[in-house]
This record gives sequence, C-alpha cells and structure tokens, in this order.
Amino acid sequence: MPIDSIHIGKVIIAGAGPGDPELITLKTLRWLQQADVVVVDRLVSPEILTEYTRPGAIIIPVGKQCNSHGSTPQSEIDQLLISHALEGRLVVRLKGGDVSIFSNVLDELEALTRNGIPYELVPGVTAALGAAAYAGIPLTARGYSTAVRFLTGCRPGGDEAWWRDLARTEDTLVFYMSSAPLDELVRRLVEEGIAADRWIAVIEQATTPMQRVASWPVHEYLDKTAGSRYASPTLIIVGRVAALHSSFQWLANSRSRELYFPSIQETKKVAVC
Ligand code: SAH
Repeated sequence: MPIDSIHIGKVIIAGAGPGDPELITLKTLRWLQQADVVVVDRLVSPEILTEYTRPGAIIIPVGKQCNSHGSTPQSEIDQLLISHALEGRLVVRLKGGDVSIFSNVLDELEALTRNGIPYELVPGVTAALGAAAYAGIPLTARGYSTAVRFLTGCRPGGDEAWWRDLARTEDTLVFYMSSAPLDELVRRLVEEGIAADRWIAVIEQATTPMQRVASWPVHEYLDKTAGSRYASPTLIIVGRVAALHSSFQWLANSRSRELYFPSIQETKKVAVC
C-alpha cells in the first residue's frame, strides 16, 4: 500500500502463535502478506517474518520481557503504531501467542482509540495451548480437571490466601513468565499443602525445534532439581494432568540447548528498519 498522507492507515493487532510458524492463523498470514509495517514482539518465530512478510515491508522488532532491561517502552511502541498509521500505512502489530494473554494490548487499544485510528484484533494460539498439545498434556482431561487457569508468578497476587487457593484447587494451573521464581513458586505451593498427586511440567521453548519438557511430582521437584535454570521462554503446568506427559509425549526432547528466538539485540541487527 503506498504511503498516502491524507488517508489514515489501519493497525491489525494479531497473534503469531507460540513458536511453530505453522501455528499462525490464515487471517494473520493474509494481513502479514499485505502489511507495510510489522511491529513485532521478541517471541515471534523468525521464520514468520522471513516467509510471510512481503519484500520491502518495514520490520520493527520491539522487545518485551518480564523484569528485562532490554524492553522497548510501551509508550514508544504505541507511538510507532500511531505514527505509521497516520502516514497511511497498513501496520501489523504482531504479538507472540495470543493478543490478549499477558500482553500490553490494552495500552495499544487505548492509544489507537485516542488517536482515531481504525484497528482489528486477530487471535492466536496462546503458549499454554501450544505447550499443552506439543507436550501431550490435555489441560482439562476427563477425570483429572474441569478447569484451567492462566497465571503468572512474575507479578503475583502474592498473599497467603492466593497461594492457598492455588495449592488446594483441582484446576490445572498454567504459569506464564514464571521460570525465574520457580523454586519459590513450588515452595509456596508445598507450604500451602498441595496434594501429593499434583505434578509439575516445565516446558522450554514449546512448539519449536528446541522444545524440552520435564515433569516431576510437585513434592519431589525441590529435592530433585532446585536451582535449575531454564531456557527462555518457559511455561509451567501444575496439576494432576501434568503426569500425563509421560504417557502421551509424542515429541522427543531436543538435544540442542540453543535458543530458538533471537534476542532483542540480534533481532535489531537483522531488522529492515
Ligand atoms: N501473549 C503470549 C504470552 C506473552 S507472556 C501468549 O499468548 O502466549 C510471555 C510468556 O509466555 C513467557 O515468559 C512464557 O512463559 C510464555 N511463552 C510464550 N511462548 C512460549 C513458548 N514457545 N514456550 C514456552 N513458554 C512460552
């Protein structure tokens, strides 16, 4: 789409899925093929950008990481979306996983609305669903669990009642952005009396060629593996269903310890902006 100073562009806020580039939706794929500008998160498969964007598209990587100093300020991201759209461009704001799960989509929606810029939202496969499928863990398996909660240990609700509820529930718990405080998270669940039949599965780089999954009974985790460090990104599943991984894992663990997602700095080097 040519730049047109009179005509306002549009922003498509779309989910790219959790890693495997084939988990992107057809709708997002079609928008990417038309985009003039793609403002992209760190946790988006590099192949999506090389395979699905059109030649000449401006690719702008913006980093967002829990507790990271390398993050792009949200106000800068909002400003990028607004300024490109006001110049008449079709902008795709491509987010890892789904657009609404642990993302700053609200800030972006407010900024777009304030500036009268048209937008659309396109969902994506969130990491919990990608990781569960590729690790062979049905999140609400019949007879195991009737609900699933998406949580984070990065900005915990924190108080004792919150932890007690998590330790006592039958629901499957999926923790995003929680691999750094994992020992503490397990310690809190054990202290609050989590049952002996609850397991924990740690899924590194889910749905990518570097995926690795490990699982233990929650009560054994600290004895067996306290202090472990995990590759980013990592997702944690806690509940009775996490034990099902050993029966239904259909994908072998990667032997590679490489990182699939480029760091923010590396992404910036290859960017065409
Ligand atoms: N909007 C994203 C989540 C962003 S928060 C979504 O819907 O998936 C970032 C966190 O998501 C990471 O810290 C990690 O916990 C999780 N995550 C994202 N991609 C992942 C992947 N491929 N494997 C494991 N965890 C992942």
